[in-house]
Amino acid sequence: MKFALDVQNYIDTSKPLDISIPLSNNEENPKAWYVDTPVFEPVRTEHYTGSVAEGGSVNFRDIFFNPHGHGTHTECLGHITEHVHSINKTLTTFFFKANLITLNPIERENEDGELDRVITIDLLEDNMLNAEALIIRTNPNGTDKKHRNYSSTNPIYFDVECARKMIRAGVKHVLIDLPSVDRENDNGELAFHHAFWEVPENPNFERTITELVYVNDSIVDGSYILNFQLAPFENDASPSRPVLYEIEQNCI
Ligand SMILES: [Zn+2]
Repeated sequence: MKFALDVQNYIDTSKPLDISIPLSNNEENPKAWYVDTPVFEPVRTEHYTGSVAEGGSVNFRDIFFNPHGHGTHTECLGHITEHVHSINKTLTTFFFKANLITLNPIERENEDGELDRVITIDLLEDNMLNAEALIIRTNPNGTDKKHRNYSSTNPIYFDVECARKMIRAGVKHVLIDLPSVDRENDNGELAFHHAFWEVPENPNFERTITELVYVNDSIVDGSYILNFQLAPFENDASPSRPVLYEIEQNCI
């Protein structure tokens, strides 16, 4: 189905570009923050089994996972506030104009003398920030990102100045292919998270951060319509499926 955006442009709903990572109980499921593989377990009692293969009438499985550590998820300021504000209450519209950009992090020495890979403000050009949603693909972009165990690997992160520049430009939703916008071990400071949500000085309930997306190389940089699909958990974060649609032009 084609949906007109205006007289000239439309999206074709039959051509979704899914940038989420599936969540499974497979060892291959990505992991971050020292969590183990998700567990999908049939409910079993003395009189009942939630497994058809084991003689039950239906498959009825408990699922144990962590939204932040096990795959694509979207979070609100409740991630860093004493009251756990809910992403289900703060994100209430689901279509946004989006820019997809690809960046090469720079290497920078940290205070322990190790080399960090960092996205700095200089890499964010003004014309990249002219959409409500900003999707950042980082290089290298191997498909192993869908299966990696990120714990203790000091992944790429964002300099705090990037958050301030994004706010000034009006970016409300940041989507990244990393386990965090902040350094893995920053002694709990979470500098970008605090700056982007302006916590505690001026808490912003509208902005979201989505982590652990995977943007296949076949999807080119440019403008898209983003459709956010979230499981309606009343929690600071929820598993999500961001879907992009190319903006196409009518032949006139
Ligand atoms: Zn998170």
